[in-house]
Order: sequence, then structure tokens, then C-alpha cells
Amino acid sequence: MDKSLLLVDDDVGILKALTRLLTRSGYSVKTAQSGEEALTLLLNYDCKVVLTDFRMPYMDGGQLLSKIKRLYPDIVSLVISGYSDFESVKSLLNAGSAYRFLQKPWEDDELLGEIANAFTHYAKHLFQHQSQKMLLASPDALIEISHPNHIVQANITARKLLGSSMIEGRSLDEFLVETDRQRLQEQALAVGQSMSIRLINHTELEVSCRLAGPYGLVLCLNPVTDGELLNTAVELPSLLNYQQLISVIEQYLDSNCSAVLVVIKIRSFELWSRMIGYSEAQRTIEDIALQLLNSMGARGELALLANEQFVLCLPDVASEIDALQKAASIIDPVTGKANLMSSKLDYAVSYCLIPEDGDEPRTVLNNLLLGNLMMAEDPVRMFMRYDQQAIERKKHQISLNQALFHAVQQRQLFLNFQPKFDFAKYTLSGCEALIRWQHPEFGMVSPALFIPLAEQHGQMVDIGYWVLKTAFITAAKWRSQGIHFGKMAINISGRQLMEPDFIHWIKHHIQLTGVEPTDLEFELTETFLLNNLDDCAITLKTFAELGISIAIDDFGTGYSSLSYLNKLPINVLKIDRSLVLDIESNLNTESLVANVVRLAHDLNMKVVVEGIETLDQLNIVKVLGCDVVQGYCISKPQSEEEYLALLTSFESLSATMG
Ligand code: C2E
Ligand code: MG
Ligand code: MG
Repeated sequence: MDKSLLLVDDDVGILKALTRLLTRSGYSVKTAQSGEEALTLLLNYDCKVVLTDFRMPYMDGGQLLSKIKRLYPDIVSLVISGYSDFESVKSLLNAGSAYRFLQKPWEDDELLGEIANAFTHYAKHLFQHQSQKMLLASPDALIEISHPNHIVQANITARKLLGSSMIEGRSLDEFLVETDRQRLQEQALAVGQSMSIRLINHTELEVSCRLAGPYGLVLCLNPVTDGELLNTAVELPSLLNYQQLISVIEQYLDSNCSAVLVVIKIRSFELWSRMIGYSEAQRTIEDIALQLLNSMGARGELALLANEQFVLCLPDVASEIDALQKAASIIDPVTGKANLMSSKLDYAVSYCLIPEDGDEPRTVLNNLLLGNLMMAEDPVRMFMRYDQQAIERKKHQISLNQALFHAVQQRQLFLNFQPKFDFAKYTLSGCEALIRWQHPEFGMVSPALFIPLAEQHGQMVDIGYWVLKTAFITAAKWRSQGIHFGKMAINISGRQLMEPDFIHWIKHHIQLTGVEPTDLEFELTETFLLNNLDDCAITLKTFAELGISIAIDDFGTGYSSLSYLNKLPINVLKIDRSLVLDIESNLNTESLVANVVRLAHDLNMKVVVEGIETLDQLNIVKVLGCDVVQGYCISKPQSEEEYLALLTSFESLSATMG
């Protein structure tokens, strides 16, 4: 972690002495002589700890720290002042705005000790913050533990899995079989690593580490064998569990035996079991297990794992065709039968071959099970070989999602700007700020991929604030440099709009950055607005009162309904690229666009068309009355420097055109 720190004091001598002491101890230090200067610095300075004087003219240390607490809740603040100020600082300490009070004159060693503690406190806090977001957003069973195996928090899925709602403060050991308690402690898991353990109710879990912090871990608990299912299946002793299945695969691999593993899962089982009741669903599973065992005879082995996944292991297969024929002869008589309330069930069946599809038993099996679960969600495919590429894609998505939690902190994000061309003014009338993510390992990741991930997994609010802050700073800077850039459009995700402090945050940052609200346009998607009409109406009205323009993004991909727009203060309608793709060849598209333009104009909105790539498309949308165009035909999204150069060249072009 970089050790960045901000010192605030109106006494230059003190700033110099503290800077010398702290830089010598490896901290990276910036200084400010007033609260105002500190807040301006913080806009661009991603610092972890603030050390401030209390008595300062205009804005005292108390006022400064209350603002910092509200705007940058992760920053850890300390006050350094004369002892006579302690009484006043007490309320800050109690409110959590200040972490410690240090006395002037200070002892070097004591001060360095407190600063080091503050950085540790920051790291701990950040971990808890990220862990909490992860837990809230993830559908998987996640728990946060601190050493040794002490449960700090757990999400609902994990509580269900562990069979208890009150688990905070307890030890994870209480839920594990005795032999596995020590193992979990000994094998200090790093992010991405996994191991298997057993719960006292006999459920077997694959435990993997999702996030690691200075004092704790976020663990994902993935059941591989369902204890309850096996408990009821007492008459079926010949079913293997996860560990036994791994041993069988190991034997195949060690003895160079060609084998096929087939996973069979009932689609929509969860839904069925809710409809018919849990015990009836259990009976159905047992019934299917018996049928599969009978049909298989002595030809192989059968396992029953979590998520109602059966795994059939057939050794000694001569080829893939042979493997499929053998498997089909066992499975077809069962899957073809009526099972549940006289209905035929729908199965997702997938398979892999040993040794072709891998040489590490746990990886082979886990990939096969994961692939089968993914397939069960896809209604079309039936009998599929293990799809290595699909699994790699899924795993890549999981790694991206984890990396996304650090993207803002590690400064991997930046903005590009794509110009919008105004037909009437014959010049660039603004730009759209588009986020880019450059990851050291994954390279450039498209927002079309990571924004939906961030929305699903809880990183969107932080990322959204980063975008807004960066865009505000850039727009304010351009204006102060006398650059006429029109409006800067910023994409706002629905998640951000629902944040309780969103409007407050916006107002505060307008003030802090000095951005002119009339230089801004917020782009919101139609689908989100329609689904949250009443809540949005109030927020949008506040934006309008501030002078911020509002645009509907991606019009044409959702309901495409204009009637509701009347209720909202909307200034711009952006027609999505997908709606105009075939505009050169399809007259229906032309008349559709013409109608949208007419309706939008009736409602006093400007129309922007997105994704215009060719001159022909450009001419058509111009004739149809669109006001503004955004697309590769004008320019792709550009870096700040490239965009400003483009702006200059368009200015001189429109000057020559008169
Ligand atoms: P969007 O807001 O509809 O942005 C327009 C997208 O269309 C951009 O893709 C842009 O590069 C692309 N585009 C523009 N003209 C053309 C063209 O002529 N041809 C083609 N093929 N594409 C064109 P990008 O930058 O990949 O962004 C994709 C989406 O990601 C955006 O769609 C937006 O929904 C989301 N996004 C991007 N930045 C942000 C952000 O800062 N915050 C939020 N919440 N979402 C963002
Ligand atoms: Mg947009
Ligand atoms: Mg769009």
C-alpha cells in the first residue's frame, strides 16, 4: 500500500518539520496551509491519512474533518494541537471524524507510532468496506473471517448453508468436523486458492479465498456434496460422495484408464422443489438415483453431489463415440421416463473424457460441475462435452470481478472523450466521457463487460463516483483554460442514482471542483428510469434545478416509450446504435427514426444519434431531422489530449465554413 499522507497547518514551520520527519520514515507527504487548500488537494490526491492542526483561520480542523468524513469516509484523520484544544476535539473523536488526538509539541517516536497505526487502521477499514460490499452483492455463500477462523460477518446464502442465522462472533470451527478445523487454519489460503472441508452436517464444501486483507479473509463456501440429501438417501449406500469421487478419478488417472465422467442435473429443480415440497423433491432425487444405479449395474460408479448433480463414472471406454453410447444406454432409460408428478423432467447433461480433459482430479471435476451448472441455465443445449472455453470465460469473469475491487485504488481507470457533432451549429457541441480500465494482467477491459459486473457485484458506486469526480475536475479545468467544449456528458448508472447521499455528493463536488453545472449532461438509461419513475422524478428535478442537462441513453433498446418522458425534465434523447444499424437499407428504420425525432421535438428534446459510422448514415439521419450525431464517422473516443486537438481542428473548420 502506498503511504500517502496530507498535512494541514497554517504554521509553515510546523509543516516543514513534520514533512522532514515523515518523509524520512518513508511516507509520501503533501501539505496544505488551510482547510480550503486541503479539500482542493484531496480532489486529485488519493491519500490515506490526514494529520491536521485544530486552530486555523476560516475553516478550523473540526470543520475540515467533518467534511472529509462525509466526502472521503475511508480516510483516517488525526488532529495535532495544543492540549487546551482537547475538549473541543473530543466531540470529533466521539463522532468518528477523528481517529486520534496528538499533542503539540510532539515526541517524534510517539507521532510516528500513531501515524503507523492510522495506516493499519485504514487498511483494515478498507478491507471491511470491500468485504461488506462483496457479501451484500454476491449470490454465492461468502463469509468474512479474522484469524483464527473467527466469523466477522456472513451473507444470507452462507447463513443458510451453515444452518444458523446468528453466526457473527462465533468460530467457523464450530461448524466443521473436528479433523478439518486444524487443516483450515494451517493452510493459509491466498486469493484464488481452494481446499475442501466438511461441515458437521456432512455437507462437503470447496472453500476458496475471494479477498485477503491485513487481518482477515473473505471465503466463498461452495457445497460439493449436500449433507441432507445423503442423510435421507440411507438406502443408497453405493452412492459416492465428493471425496470418494475424487479418489475414483485419481485411480483412473494413475492407471492410465480411459474413462468418461457424465454429470446429470435436473433443470429448474429449485423451482420444482418449491412447488411440490422438499420431501417430495428428496424422494424424486432418490428415485432417480435408484434408477441410474439399476441401469448402470456393475459397469461404473455413481456419485450424488450438491446442487442435485449426479456424476456417472464409466471406465474402459475405447473412444468418444463408445463413451457416449455407453453413457446414453444408461442415462436415456432414466431421463426418458416420467419422474415428477407424472411429468418428464428436463436434464442438463455434460461430460468429459479422462485423460484428455485434464490430469488433476479436483480441477477436472470442478470444471465439469461448473460447466454443467452454466449449461443448466441455458435452455437450448442438451448433451455437451465439457466446454473448456466457456469455463475459462467464466473464470476470467470471476478474476475480473475481483480485480475490479482494486481498480479505483490502484489508479487503473481513466476517461476517454467522444465528440458529438451538431448539424445546425456545424461544430462539436459536446462530448461523452467514457470510462476505460487498463489492468496490468488483463490489458484493456471494455466497459461493456465490466460495468455490468460492477453493477452486479457492488463496485459500481465507487467507480461511478470516481468517474463523476474526474469528469468534474476535467470540465472545470477546460473552462478555466478558456476551452469551449460545449457539454460534457457523463453516464450515470441506476445503482448510483439510488445512493442515499447522491444529490448531496453532487452538490458538494460541484462546489469543490468549481465545475459549471450547465457544462454537464447526465446520461441515464431508459429501462432504469421507467422501473423507478417516482424516485427518479425527484432526483432529476434537483439536477434540472442545478442546471444539469438530462439525456436518455440507449433509447430503442428497452420499452422505447416516450409517453412517460413528459413527467421527467428530460432535455436530450439518444437513439441507440442498434436502432440505426440498417438505416441505409431499410425504409422501415428510416420512418421509425423520423417518428421518434418528431415526437422528441414535440416534447422539446434534442435528438442525438449514436453509433453513426458511415457518411451515408450521417446524411440520412441529418435529413430525418436528428440534431446531433455521435459515432466513429466523426471520431472514436479519444484521450484528453487527442480530444482537445480534435476540438481545435473542428473550431478552425467551422470558422472557415463561416
Ligand atoms: P453508451 O453510454 O451507449 O456509450 C456509447 C458506446 O458506443 C461507447 O462504447 C462508444 O465507444 C460506442 N460507440 C460510439 N460510436 C460508435 C460507432 O460509431 N460504432 C460503434 N461500433 N460503437 C460506437 P464504450 O465506450 O465501450 O461504452 C460502452 C457502454 O459502457 C456505454 O454505452 C455505457 O453504457 C457504459 N459506460 C461507459 N463509460 C461509463 C461510465 O463512466 N459510467 C457508466 N455507468 N457506464 C459507462
Ligand atoms: Mg452513454
Ligand atoms: Mg448509448
